[in-house]
Amino acid sequence: MKLRLLPSSLESELPGSPAPRAQPLTSFIVTGTDGAGPVAIDAGSLGMVGDAAAMARVEEVVLTHSHIDHVATLPMWIEACLSEGRAPVRVHAARETVEALRAHLFNDVLYADFESMTDAEGRALLEWALIPSEGPFSVAGLRMESIPAAHTVPTRGFVVEDGERAVLFAADSGPNPGLWAAVAARPGLAAVVLETSFPDAMGDVALGSGHLTPGLLAAELRHAPADLRVLVAHLKPAYRDEVARALEALEDPRIELLRPGVEVEL
Ligand SMILES: [Zn+2]
Ligand SMILES: [Zn+2]
Repeated sequence: MKLRLLPSSLESELPGSPAPRAQPLTSFIVTGTDGAGPVAIDAGSLGMVGDAAAMARVEEVVLTHSHIDHVATLPMWIEACLSEGRAPVRVHAARETVEALRAHLFNDVLYADFESMTDAEGRALLEWALIPSEGPFSVAGLRMESIPAAHTVPTRGFVVEDGERAVLFAADSGPNPGLWAAVAARPGLAAVVLETSFPDAMGDVALGSGHLTPGLLAAELRHAPADLRVLVAHLKPAYRDEVARALEALEDPRIELLRPGVEVEL
């Protein structure tokens, strides 16, 4: 399985603009070894990377939750797919996430209500696929299963399997016993993808907003197998360097920082 964290900040001469390593928006691209996918987990920057034909090669999208850093460019990705003749475009999400996006994004105010629009052949432009809270579901040839997360809105993480390997995407989440129960139930897990949003000095903010700090991550990893690969993303841009230094200082060989644009073989 291959995994790529999509870039979401651009080079700029503007004073105060973030360094290109900064990652304000979240989208992961997953491709199965057996040719399944590519699939996107979240669409923070999915609709701003590449031209329409390149974007439309991403077969389907799975959303962890409704927060804007995870859905910001979903409308642009859908439009890219539609321009390539791909109606209906399928997006997988839990019922609460679908309801939030119907009410607040695809509502003919913030953006077009694609779901109630059809193309010349009468096909709906957007089709929601509801994620079951238990049991497997299939996304463009990848087998997925949802797991709980501890965040401020309904949020799901995912175990993704390509027939060879399984990887667990934990999503935005504070300390999460449900995650470690899912890890314990899957001894052969190739990696877990976790977040670390805030520095340790902002532990209260992290806990209040359903996120981790390096210290909270270290406490979480006490539940993790000694040989589990731990890939970290979702560092808030303003604290990125501070969080990265603190992660390094943990001296935990399991931890790797995911770098935007770099493909990781799992
Ligand atoms: Zn969130
Ligand atoms: Zn987020």
